[in-house]
Parts: sequence; structure tokens; C-alpha cells
Amino acid sequence: MLALADFALWVLIIFLVGFVGFFVVAVVMVVRLVGFVGRALFGRPSAENDPGQRRRDHHGRLCPQLRCGHVNAADARYCARCGQPLRVVCDVDAYG
Ligand SMILES: [Zn+2]
Repeated sequence: MLALADFALWVLIIFLVGFVGFFVVAVVMVVRLVGFVGRALFGRPSAENDPGQRRRDHHGRLCPQLRCGHVNAADARYCARCGQPLRVVCDVDAYG
């Protein structure tokens, strides 16, 4: 009789763990879905997902090479695409 009670208790515990786990996963998925929909409707897309957005925000160093024009990181000393040295003159922040 005691063994049966132990067995029923373990079944109940496993059932509850599975039940709670299911709801944790469901809540996480709903939160992620709401975040995705919210970004799609209201927020601007993140820069790493949209190269055009990354090019438009003026926080990088523009490559002086006319055929390149690559927007490098703000602290870059050489162009990541063509290797041209980046001068302070080419800092687009200086022009506002
Ligand atoms: Zn370049």
C-alpha cells in the first residue's frame, strides 16, 4: 500500500513538472512572439539584420576611396573592404 502511494506521488510529481514545463515554454514562446510582432509593427529593425540601416546611421567612418565608400566602424583605422587608411577628414561625424 505504501509502495502504491509512493508510485502515485512520483507520477503526480512528474506530471506537475511536465505541466509546469509546458507552461514555461508556452510563456517564453508567447513573449518572443509578442516581441517579434512589436518590433515588426513599432520598433525599427536592428542594425545587424538590415545592412541598409547600418549604412544609413552615421556612426561609422566612410572610406575615402570613391569606388569603395564602405562605412567602417567608428574606431577603424583602415577600411575593412579595400584596406585604404582612414583619415580623420573622412569621419562623417565631423560634418554632422
Ligand atoms: Zn574602402
